[in-house]
Amino acid sequence: MPRAGPAPFLYPSGGGRRLSPSRSSLPRRLGNPSSGDFVQLPVPVIQQLFHWDCGLACSRMVLRYLGQLDDAEFERALQELRLTRSIWTIDLAYLMRRFGVRHRFCTQTLGVDKGYKNQPFYRKHFDAEETRVNQLFAQAKTCKVLVEKCRVSMQDIQAHLAQGHVAIVLVNSGVLHCDLCSSPPKYCCFAPSGPRRLCRSPEYQGHFVVLRGYSRAAGCVFYNNPAYADRMCSASVSNFEEARTSYGTDEDILFVYGDS
Ligand SMILES: [Zn+2]
Repeated sequence: MPRAGPAPFLYPSGGGRRLSPSRSSLPRRLGNPSSGDFVQLPVPVIQQLFHWDCGLACSRMVLRYLGQLDDAEFERALQELRLTRSIWTIDLAYLMRRFGVRHRFCTQTLGVDKGYKNQPFYRKHFDAEETRVNQLFAQAKTCKVLVEKCRVSMQDIQAHLAQGHVAIVLVNSGVLHCDLCSSPPKYCCFAPSGPRRLCRSPEYQGHFVVLRGYSRAAGCVFYNNPAYADRMCSASVSNFEEARTSYGTDEDILFVYGDS
């Protein structure tokens, strides 16, 4: 059960390429509810404010989608839950609970994976965070925070989205590649240090995104990346699967239900 952030970089509002008119004029709600071949839920885009708060920005997007975002209340919740700059997926589950939002947090590790201790991304605050996070897991049931150790398939995810529900997903942002954004690859095969395996970042870079739809025909998923202020992103199903199951993520996914 890992955490995310800092984001590799932030994009200013209005910067970068926008969605082409043909894409942005696609139906916003279920394209065909009976078949579930195309889903694009109207989840508002909210950009993260700092390098560490992608998880909070995702939570705000979800709450706004559900019509439950009250900024003052949100700030109060952060204080009550004593959230710091180190935001783990379990923190987001508690946040959903705090707002009475039905949720289900699926992960491969109930607690902190000791194996991450020596990963550069986790090293900094590992010991203090380990105690805090393990405590949150221990208290989850009492606090009515639903956590399950389970593996989730893309079929499960698509079925969830087809019902009009969204999910916050922890990904390795060094792996996730948006097909709509024109930014150059962050890691290159021809880096000075020599060819990198599969042209991927060797290190885990945790980042939360909000999953909001998919197209079966195009074989892609739609998501909001809180690093951006002005767009919806899209990745191939295979790339998204690789990014969310990458070492370091524990395959954390927080399902959120709209009928809360
Ligand atoms: Zn994008």
